[in-house]
Amino acid sequence: MDDKIVQVQHLRKAYANYVAIEDVNFDVHRGEIFGLLGPNGAGKTTTLEILEGLRQPDAGFIRVLSLDPSREAHRLQNLIGIQLQASGMPDSITVREAMDFFCAYHRIAPRMDLLERLELQEKLNTQHYMLSTGQKRRLALALAIAHKPALIFLDEPTAALDVISRSELHAVIRELQDEGTTIILSSHDMAEVEKLTSRVAILLHGEIVAIGTPNELTATGAGLTKISIHTEHSSLNEDVNVPAVSQRMLKDEYDVFFSTDPAVTVSALLDYIKAHQDPLIDLRVERPSLEERFLEITTQKEMA
Ligand code: ATP
Repeated sequence: MDDKIVQVQHLRKAYANYVAIEDVNFDVHRGEIFGLLGPNGAGKTTTLEILEGLRQPDAGFIRVLSLDPSREAHRLQNLIGIQLQASGMPDSITVREAMDFFCAYHRIAPRMDLLERLELQEKLNTQHYMLSTGQKRRLALALAIAHKPALIFLDEPTAALDVISRSELHAVIRELQDEGTTIILSSHDMAEVEKLTSRVAILLHGEIVAIGTPNELTATGAGLTKISIHTEHSSLNEDVNVPAVSQRMLKDEYDVFFSTDPAVTVSALLDYIKAHQDPLIDLRVERPSLEERFLEITTQKEMA
């Protein structure tokens, strides 16, 4: 029980007559990176802001670090880290001033080590409006984690970042997880979510339509798993009948099989090459991506 950092039960939120969140339920456990995925307007930001104590829910039982965000927002906000969007910062504030200000608020010494870790040490006297998008994001992350919060909220942490900045931020997020920090992030970037998160909830029109590890979500889809096999004598010619395969092809030196049941297919392939004394050189199994599964789930629900 203790290991639940966040509990959300029957959360509901409407704006006037528009129901933005309807009966949302999920838990986040200590040390997880939990992803909220969903198309524009699905309710991700509304959910995050309710958990952060920045918006009031209409109904539901919510606990974040054992506090009720709607009644104990101030206490909660000292314990969590929120990556603010760039617009939250005054234009003229310098990187050093921003760090001094945030750390003074939390009554801790300025975390210059973090500015160095996030490669902002050469920008200490640069005003916020002169930072690049990537530098603004890195500063926002440094400020969110300066007081070593147990729980961090990241709303689209790598939107509009180039590949290098993105992978640097991913490395920092992983380090935080290694240190025991729990992270909740929303993102449109499926590859990012698939790579980083321990569990994902897919929100659609304010409801959770799927929840699980990225592997669980992709494994339950109709998408076919791609199995590529390369053997020394290429004994798997077209006449070999392989179970659970709906399509096959040759690609370079690989025989490629699209399988509805990868465990069955792989085991039959291995049995076959063993029986034909054809040594295995390489075997690759690629599940359908989270993006394919996401499109499948959202399309099915939209049509229902
Ligand atoms: P995006 O990916 O585009 O950021 P999101 O999943 O974060 O979307 P929310 O910002 O939570 O979605 O919005 C959910 C729905 O609630 C949207 O239809 C939005 O227009 C509506 N909404 C959000 N804030 C308000 C508000 N203050 N007043 C009225 N409607 C709002």
